[in-house]
Amino acid sequence: MATELQHTLGKAVGFSGTSLHTGEKVSLRLQPAPVDHGIKFKRKDLQDEPTIDAKIDNLKTVERATTIGEGSVRVHTVEHVLAALSAMGVDNAIVEMDANEPPIGDGSAQIYVDVIKRASVIEQETPRKFFYVREPVHLEGKTGALLVLLPDDKFRISCTQAGPNSRFTQFLSMEITPATFEREIAPARTFVYYEDVEPLMEKNLIRGGSLENAVVVRGDAVLSKEPLRFEDEFVRHKILDIIGDLALIGHRIRGHVVAVKPSHAVNGELARVLAREQGRRSTLSLPRTIPRGEGGLDSDEVMQILPHRYPFLMVDRIIGFEGETKCIGMKTVTMNEPFFQGHFPGHPVMPGVLQVEAMAQVASILLFKLAKTTNRVGYFMSADEVKFRKPVVPGDTIFIHAELTKQRGERLAKAKCHCLVNDAVVSEGELMFTFLDK
Ligand SMILES: [Zn+2]
Repeated sequence: MATELQHTLGKAVGFSGTSLHTGEKVSLRLQPAPVDHGIKFKRKDLQDEPTIDAKIDNLKTVERATTIGEGSVRVHTVEHVLAALSAMGVDNAIVEMDANEPPIGDGSAQIYVDVIKRASVIEQETPRKFFYVREPVHLEGKTGALLVLLPDDKFRISCTQAGPNSRFTQFLSMEITPATFEREIAPARTFVYYEDVEPLMEKNLIRGGSLENAVVVRGDAVLSKEPLRFEDEFVRHKILDIIGDLALIGHRIRGHVVAVKPSHAVNGELARVLAREQGRRSTLSLPRTIPRGEGGLDSDEVMQILPHRYPFLMVDRIIGFEGETKCIGMKTVTMNEPFFQGHFPGHPVMPGVLQVEAMAQVASILLFKLAKTTNRVGYFMSADEVKFRKPVVPGDTIFIHAELTKQRGERLAKAKCHCLVNDAVVSEGELMFTFLDK
């Protein structure tokens, strides 16, 4: 498959509208930007026209809408314009505004899709940045929100929305592409519960709010200027907000977001977790793709076979078996491993003996698989020809290869093992085991 490239806008295009919170007129202009620039907001109304990076580090508040800021400069309610840019395939752009908030439009992302299409989306010369979900991530929010992120080779969102007392419960699952976003998600408008906005209206905090830019739910009644655009418009808007909030990662997600009653708060928290993980991975010298499909064992399956548990489980998963005698396991070592705290402070290196332990665990899985029983425990008898060739440091992914070289009866076995990091051998050894009943 051809490498996907970064995209920006073909030309600058703008429009004006009303801001939700102040009710004032605001002009917004989308400008093209060079590769690796990302999305930045520019406050044209302030001295020196400061810019704010649409990055998770700049996330300030998540009350009802998403606010980002740098220093004392803020931009509010950025999620709809970010959702449209991200989903329509724009990686690099400047969002110029002469106020602290983009125009609310009709409460959906339709106006932003329109302006992006007027500007056109053009290819640039550098590959896109992706965040590949490798392990499930799960987060729970205070208000019953639940987010789970699963590996997927596409960007999918499955969302369940439920209002107070489970009113207006809606579910939708779809792959997010420019076409599905434009057709199914962008037109979905913001919705609010009357009991939530009443106090804000009294305090004059949403001066630009009206039935023209939000659907208001009062009891079982739905109030809006125009009828609902979709029967399940609310869950579609929730998906729109998820896309906008996760755009703050700065990488395109390859994964499946499963969201139950999501909020800006929990979306922002997930974006933080993913950005942190992305930062950790970027310190690795080479991204490795983990082969998926038949033959491997995930961490649950590994734990069904091995009796080892944290902090002594040294295998995250088995990538695959080759015939009856070979097996490859994987372990990602993070700064959170307990041994790094003392080995050594300020200079973390994975102890070599733990790499030997990892080899032994992978070899045991191979042997248990052959013996078709887990009613035994493998004990080390000897480790020969052990060599440690390179230090293993936080952020490394170790690929643990084990090959069965000798087997005597059901009780004795010998395996030749080595560990690779970035295709270089970091350690090796020949291990002998005996198996005893539990
Ligand atoms: Zn929204």
